[in-house]
Amino acid sequence: MSNVTIIDTKRGLRPRASASDVEAAARLAALLEKAKSRDAHGILELALREEFAGKTAVVSSFGAEAVVLLKLVADIDPNTPILFLNTGKLFGETLRYRDRLQDVLGLGDVRSLAPSLEERAKKDPEGTLWSRDADACCDFRKTIPLAHALEPFQAQITGRKRFQTRERADMQPVEYFEGRYRFNPLWQWDLHQLEAYIERNNLPRHPLVEDGYPSIGCMPCTRRVQAGEDYRAGRWSGLDKDECGIHLTDGGGI
Ligand code: SF4
Repeated sequence: MSNVTIIDTKRGLRPRASASDVEAAARLAALLEKAKSRDAHGILELALREEFAGKTAVVSSFGAEAVVLLKLVADIDPNTPILFLNTGKLFGETLRYRDRLQDVLGLGDVRSLAPSLEERAKKDPEGTLWSRDADACCDFRKTIPLAHALEPFQAQITGRKRFQTRERADMQPVEYFEGRYRFNPLWQWDLHQLEAYIERNNLPRHPLVEDGYPSIGCMPCTRRVQAGEDYRAGRWSGLDKDECGIHLTDGGGI
């Protein structure tokens, strides 16, 4: 059980953990034991075939490195549900890249999620909330639609990597977050490994990468990166923010 307290949300079990919390913590510890000796493909097999077959969804931005995870998933089961947040603020290039990858990789179940018309009219009628309150904008355009879409699933797979942000630096291959298991098969990959995998498999690149965008989110909140800058410096530039909220680790663990 000691792994659980270290790995899950830095807080371990809550002081008054319920029976289901204890059960989830025990399963998390067992999953971690299995995952830590496996490569990315093995971790995906663990989620998609061994432990949560038919109950797992992938969350993908179809951003700069997304093709790596999508290819690995497609090699196991191309009909795995892929949840894509179409916030209404994405680059057109991202939408076309989604369509291209769906075609090239044979992805059979890509689900585009969006806030409802009612929510947009109520919370962001002018479409400018991002400029006043980015957290509120991410909340209704990303966090809430994703939470609804994940309801039928017991596990999710992300493309997060340790090297990306300070928040992700102590990420583990499996976590427990808001009532479901979260697998991070690329947790230990670095940029060189990602590049090499894309080259080796001759995979299509997001068209904005060549144009100076090594990390790509919504259009108003992403800028080009200059030489010498951190590769995520173009995300929410000027704001004290480097996560949109859908992946925050400290907010719902066991
Ligand atoms: S990244 Fe920017 S535009 Fe996109 S949902 Fe968040 S605040 Fe809104």
